[in-house]
Amino acid sequence: MLRGKTAIITGAGRGIGRAIALQFATYGAKVVLNYRNSLSQVEELLQTIKNAGGEAIAIKADISKEDEAKNLIVEAVKEFKTLDILVNNAGINRDNLLIRMSEEEFNSVIDINLKGTFFCMKHAAQVMLKQRFGKIINISSIVGIAGNMGQANYAASKAGVIGMTKSAARELSSRGITVNAVAPGFIETDMTDALPDRIKEASIATIPLGRFGSAEEVAGAVSFLASESANYITGQVLQVDGGMVM
Ligand code: NAP
Repeated sequence: MLRGKTAIITGAGRGIGRAIALQFATYGAKVVLNYRNSLSQVEELLQTIKNAGGEAIAIKADISKEDEAKNLIVEAVKEFKTLDILVNNAGINRDNLLIRMSEEEFNSVIDINLKGTFFCMKHAAQVMLKQRFGKIINISSIVGIAGNMGQANYAASKAGVIGMTKSAARELSSRGITVNAVAPGFIETDMTDALPDRIKEASIATIPLGRFGSAEEVAGAVSFLASESANYITGQVLQVDGGMVM
């Protein structure tokens, strides 16, 4: 499905990013695993991919810093010569009620989720424009569409990702580059593990499929958008949320 393609996945050491990287490698892509802190997890993932006969390298970069985001793209292209797919997955949440939210809590989420995605897209697009081919998939969130209590910063960042996805799709389409977003609902990872049980139970009650999703189920949607089956799809937001928002 992705044989011979090269892909960068940001935040690939854990959670959804790890599942995407593993699935891409299984489908035959050469993968660049970006991480910021999760060195041991990324080393374990590298080994897993290599043991299965796949190709992968790891590159450390804090994507909220433009020079590091740029270096991630440059080093990836140096290793694999092309860059076919970029998945902007890295993200954080720093939840608080609006009236209590500090400027630092607001900025830190915007800096990673929105500006980090912008930096990676900007530098990857420069490579993809020359190639006249590329697929960019940005991980947004259902919270960027519907909002959520205690997540004004996160919702703003993820709604921003959707606006940026659509703008980039319009700018880059004439050179054969597609740009789409995936908006997961509640997915079982470290990010949602931290939630109190009462919030988890209340959330499940709002999901028609009656359960949280898995990282692999998000990866499935990302793999589809990265594949040739999605060549005529750009500027779209694919919700992977068990029907939570419709
Ligand atoms: P997670 O388990 O908390 O993992 C977050 C990942 O982001 C880690 O790999 C982390 O890398 C990376 N990251 C954070 N800041 C970074 C930075 N400045 N530079 C590079 N990497 C950075 O989260 P997850 O649940 O897998 O979430 C992945 C994406 O899906 C996020 O964008 C999140 O907003 C989105 N999402 C998640 C859910 C959900 O329910 N879980 C729902 C909707 C959307 P290190 O460990 O190396 O720091």
